[in-house]
Amino acid sequence: MLKSHSYGEITRLDLARTLWGRGRYWTTAYLLNGDQDGLLIDTGCAHSAPELLSALADVPLTRVVNTHTHEDHIGANGPLQRRHAGLEILAHPLALPVLTDPRGRQPLHPYRRVMWGWPEPSQGRPLTDGEMIETARYRLQVIYTPGHSPDHLCLYEPEQGWLFTGDLFVGGQDRALRAGYDIWEIIASLKRIAALPATTLFPGSARVRDHPAEALREKIAYLEGLGERVLALHREGRRVGEIVRALMGGPMLIEAVTLGHFSRRRLVLSYLGMNAEE
Ligand SMILES: [Zn+2]
Repeated sequence: MLKSHSYGEITRLDLARTLWGRGRYWTTAYLLNGDQDGLLIDTGCAHSAPELLSALADVPLTRVVNTHTHEDHIGANGPLQRRHAGLEILAHPLALPVLTDPRGRQPLHPYRRVMWGWPEPSQGRPLTDGEMIETARYRLQVIYTPGHSPDHLCLYEPEQGWLFTGDLFVGGQDRALRAGYDIWEIIASLKRIAALPATTLFPGSARVRDHPAEALREKIAYLEGLGERVLALHREGRRVGEIVRALMGGPMLIEAVTLGHFSRRRLVLSYLGMNAEE
């Protein structure tokens, strides 16, 4: 399923697998419009790739930037690169081996295959922190923001005040985390983007926000406060399960769906530096 919405020169493309007539587990791509720019930020999941290609049939695409290599952000890379000869795919250096060999480098749990599917391989070119990506009308600064994944980056357009945050910032108060995420790196990365004078924040899912400074500050304060409480209980000798029950609220559906891969326990473990990917 694909839904499209315009924000001036930016087209937001919400993409999801269609199951029983509804889109499930949405992810978002953004297109810098017009014949002049031809830049797409992220490509959705493999299940929605045919719909994205159809929606972009008349767009003279020249470049794709992947904010990171999770399968719901690189799913149409391969088909797009086949259709557009010379299409450049830009990503963090750590992302490139995953783009080349998604199945070998990023094995997917069954729930991820069902929700988003296996991406096809694609070929990328590395971006460095601080580099400017120039289109005809815009300049996007690359900001390295690890934590959600080791290869995560954000993009900032200083003239327009646009900030594309991938999955680093999606709003809300997190009560769970996926295996492999580093919550302290996420907080450091959030502080990095919060220092920018952004006027509009375009996330990798959830709603677009104007004047996002306050929302970013609130998110950082919430995550830091939660981390202090986790560490305090840990110093008292409380076990991980006890900390989960004391601080993270009741069971969540996502924990059952992902067989604990995305869970309250994983968030506590990440605060304790013990949340390695399995
Ligand atoms: Zn992600």
